[in-house]
Amino acid sequence: MKFGGTSMAGTERIRRVANIVRRQQAAGHEVAVVVSAMAGETDRLVNFCREAHALYDPAEYDVVVASGEQVTAGLLALTLQSMGAKARSWLGWQLPINTIEAHAKARVDTIDAPDLVASLERGEIAVIPGFQGVSAEGRITTMGRGGSDTSAVAVAAALNADRCDIYTDVDGVYTTDPRIVAKARKLKAVTYEEMLELASVGAKVLQTRSVGLAMKEGVRVQVLSSFIDDDATPADDLPGTMIVSDEEMERIYEEGDMERQHVTGIAHDKNEAKIILTRVPDKPGAVAHIFSPLADASINVDMIIQNVGRDKGETDVTFTVPQTDLARAQALLEDRRGEIGFNRIITDSKIAKISVVGVGMKSHAGVAATMFTALSERGINIQAISTSEIKVSVMIDEDETELAVRVLHTAYGLDAKDEAA
Ligand code: ADP
Ligand code: ASP
Ligand code: MG
Repeated sequence: MKFGGTSMAGTERIRRVANIVRRQQAAGHEVAVVVSAMAGETDRLVNFCREAHALYDPAEYDVVVASGEQVTAGLLALTLQSMGAKARSWLGWQLPINTIEAHAKARVDTIDAPDLVASLERGEIAVIPGFQGVSAEGRITTMGRGGSDTSAVAVAAALNADRCDIYTDVDGVYTTDPRIVAKARKLKAVTYEEMLELASVGAKVLQTRSVGLAMKEGVRVQVLSSFIDDDATPADDLPGTMIVSDEEMERIYEEGDMERQHVTGIAHDKNEAKIILTRVPDKPGAVAHIFSPLADASINVDMIIQNVGRDKGETDVTFTVPQTDLARAQALLEDRRGEIGFNRIITDSKIAKISVVGVGMKSHAGVAATMFTALSERGINIQAISTSEIKVSVMIDEDETELAVRVLHTAYGLDAKDEAA
């Protein structure tokens, strides 16, 4: 069971969480619980790091931001104990949750679970802070924003759990963010592949890596709400959204439980920033000079456009990076100005990426055309486009995000029917 930040935001909320956990135990389950920091806490800690040092050391950043989860893990264990349950916390380094690769974006490598299993067998509830692990050097690591979802799936895989229930502040995965589109519809099920794509283009209800890991390890994941009454349907009756394999999805369609759509969901992402390098030499190797140093610094580049060369063998190159990496990317590129040979570097954080996702588009033409037409009818200008087999993304002005998502939701026929109609 994993509980997100809103579910853990304060003593009263933690008490509700403790009740949900105890009910699962009372139903005969052994439960490991993964918790997030209180809502807003990680943002607060990140800001402290930025104030301390604009180009902060990611290893020290991890020391600071991992603390939020330590607090909620201890508090949930205490709350459970106050209710007479046996519970204890297990910090990332105590299990341990071994991680590899860069600080602030660590990946789970292995989890040593024997002590945890023994504790569960003794009837103890295990409370594990999400987001944090330990590096091979013995230092605290964190797994990127939203990383508690990945902690939960990794723990579920290590324990060979029957299911990984991700409790959050919405009661499932919707056709789009229900906070933006009131007419968004809850999906009964969504395939791993689609959820992976939706998450990677900004549907933050699950961290992308958690979905990839669940797919690889075959973990059954359910997304559901922790904001429920005491007499609500128990989680075992699957009231949320199940993340399922393609075969399971076929069965759901055949049983008529869900309608097939070309587009399953729409996501937006305001966390990228655009970089334009002007007057880059239009010759072999020029682009490699730009992107190799970024890759070496673990900066993910997403959309890339190289304009048609203009006179004098020069061209502009436009691309996007995560906003959190913008300062570092800019510094790296400035350092290599001579080598790359650009004239100016222009950045813009006020952009958004809107994506439509659905396995249905593999076999159906016209999904992209519908997108471009719907946006142009509202005067929304497209600055860049990228596609994959099951996704079309466009870059637009950030101010037009909400409008674009609503317009597309309607254009693909995803709006919930009016109750009255
Ligand atoms: P938690 O703190 O529980 O991890 P998050 O804020 O990370 O919660 O994720 C839940 C939020 O994801 C919801 O409040 C909702 O606004 C947002 N969201 C974005 N896209 C979707 C979607 N397609 N379906 C459901 N929620 C979505
Ligand atoms: N607290 C961390 C974050 O806000 C991890 C998580 O909540 O999943 O990113
Ligand atoms: Mg989250």
